[in-house]
Amino acid sequence: MLWRIVSFVLFQVLPAAAAWNVVAPSIRGPVCLAVALVGCYVWLFIDATRGARLLEWVRAGNAADIDLGRGLWGEVSERIRKLVRQRDRAVLESAGRLQDFLAALQASPNGVVLLSADSRIEWFNQTAAGHFGFDARRDMLQHFGNLVRDPGFAAYYASRDFRQDVVMPGREHSLSKPVKISVHMHPYGEGRMLLLSRDITVVEQAEAMRRDFVANVSHEIRTPLTVLSGFVETLQSLPLDETEQGRYLALMASQAQRMQTLVSDLLTLSRLEGSPLPPLHEWVSVSALMAQCVQDAHALSSVLWTQGQDVQFHIAAGHEIAGSPSELHSAMFNLIGNAIRYTPLDKRIDVYWEVLADGSAVFSVKDQGLGIAPEHLPRLTERFYRVDRSRSRETGGTGLGLAIVKHVAQRHGAELGIESQPGNGSRFSIVFPAVRVRAIADQEMTATSTASAA
Ligand code: ADP
Repeated sequence: MLWRIVSFVLFQVLPAAAAWNVVAPSIRGPVCLAVALVGCYVWLFIDATRGARLLEWVRAGNAADIDLGRGLWGEVSERIRKLVRQRDRAVLESAGRLQDFLAALQASPNGVVLLSADSRIEWFNQTAAGHFGFDARRDMLQHFGNLVRDPGFAAYYASRDFRQDVVMPGREHSLSKPVKISVHMHPYGEGRMLLLSRDITVVEQAEAMRRDFVANVSHEIRTPLTVLSGFVETLQSLPLDETEQGRYLALMASQAQRMQTLVSDLLTLSRLEGSPLPPLHEWVSVSALMAQCVQDAHALSSVLWTQGQDVQFHIAAGHEIAGSPSELHSAMFNLIGNAIRYTPLDKRIDVYWEVLADGSAVFSVKDQGLGIAPEHLPRLTERFYRVDRSRSRETGGTGLGLAIVKHVAQRHGAELGIESQPGNGSRFSIVFPAVRVRAIADQEMTATSTASAA
């Protein structure tokens, strides 16, 4: 400010002093006054020009570029420049924060849609685009109700009661491949809405599976229980001789056995689901597993067919599998047991253990039994799925065997393969990855290449 006053005074005093020295004494007074006045106008002109430049720059919005040197306008321009820089920094920071925030919403596994007070779409993430089939260029600022026309959602939206969510079919929903989306609206701000959507197809499927499972288990247990209680009533109410009593008790024992097998298979499945993965460092001898399977196959075929069945074991000796011995035995014997149960006595069953060139190994059971029609193959490993219901029950099947095999295979990083043709028999195989198979030292090798359960 001092510089401003000094310059204003100098602009008048200096020219007036110069005029004082050069002008005749008689006209010195008025000339010096006129010169001082001119100096005053020049100063005012320069000052107004600088102010006007500043105003023009501020109006143009590029005040950051001005440089008006010293003085009042220089300081004003400097202050404006600082304020503009601060504002630009704040704008950049908040734009960055907004971008981070939108990126976080974009990364959300849930669909997010922001709606204006008049229900127009202001923003949505990729997940929401997938759920509702939105297109960012086409649907921005469109009325949400025009794009999502599900009647259930329309009723929910009209009710304005957003305490609960609403479930509606997703964009890719079809009868063969149902897709369910849960939509929940949350009011915020002045009439705005935050809409969250979630794909609950898997949850719904799991819930349906749980219901089916409970229904299946109840059904499986109810049948032998009904038979058992019927026999108990008969024994209580009828005077039976010893032979008849013995017959009834044998039938009761077989029903009790059926329930026991079912419970044991259910426990096996729940153990498989709940226990940690089989270790990679615990090695089980394939020959030992097969020796146990030979014995069990002999016992099962004697029970079912009253005489041994022709089961040939073709085992490449000297290998081990990394995993759980009990799970591996259960899976392998389930396949052998099925072959025994679904193959007539006069037909043959072959069990193979082969190690392939890439180090992986295949355990397979090939039978010449009934075979399975192609439409059943994809569903065979579902719990309680049976092709031949009566044969399964007669032979003590629970419908859980292949589900157990599939589980065990998955837990060992192996794959279950099924090939079958009606009338031509079946081949069930488990392919173990190379990492779970190793050859044992020569001296430990046994020559059990062919064993027979016959
Ligand atoms: P189950 O206890 O009924 O045998 P599984 O899960 O082991 O249950 O098998 C499912 C169904 O697959 C069986 O009910 C049977 O109809 C069919 N199946 C399994 N193995 C064979 C086989 N080797 N030959 C023919 N059908 C088979």
